[in-house]
Amino acid sequence: MLSRHATDRVAPTSDNWIHTSVLVLNASYEALDEIGADRAVVLLTSGVAESVADREPYFPIRSKQLEIALPETIRLLRYVFVEHVNPVHEESRATLTGVLRRDKHRCGYCASWARTVDHIRPRSRGGPNTWGNLIACCAPCNTAKADRTPEEAGMRLLWQPKAPDPMAKRQRRIWRQLATT
Ligand SMILES: [Zn+2]
Repeated sequence: MLSRHATDRVAPTSDNWIHTSVLVLNASYEALDEIGADRAVVLLTSGVAESVADREPYFPIRSKQLEIALPETIRLLRYVFVEHVNPVHEESRATLTGVLRRDKHRCGYCASWARTVDHIRPRSRGGPNTWGNLIACCAPCNTAKADRTPEEAGMRLLWQPKAPDPMAKRQRRIWRQLATT
């Protein structure tokens, strides 16, 4: 996000226009997301979206058949239903598959492929099923840690588990819906 905004301050050139960001509005004009200009151009040329505002000054994007203006804001022609995603807190409940997906199946202790999750504070000591207390864990690490805290087991977490970013979840859902239109 930061890098996109950084490139936005400079005028687009043939080399960097792809890295400028474009605001996507739903058919109802509700702001949905910011996407890369390359993706926005694909949505425009495939008839999924229309340009609401072009970039000033005019910056042409040319292909063999057509020339279009680099957009600043585009609007989807079909309404995309977006469920309201409540903010996810570290203390909210997590599922096994949710934790494995968040950690990309990497063990939080040794980074190898993980199929199970570990309660950082063991369940036997009241450790909850929350995003902040669960981490993907491979079977050997899970066995080695047993019913102990990482400190007691002499194991170190490679990162601090957090609740997944609800915006990223929302973005994935939007792209999945667009892909099926
Ligand atoms: Zn491991």
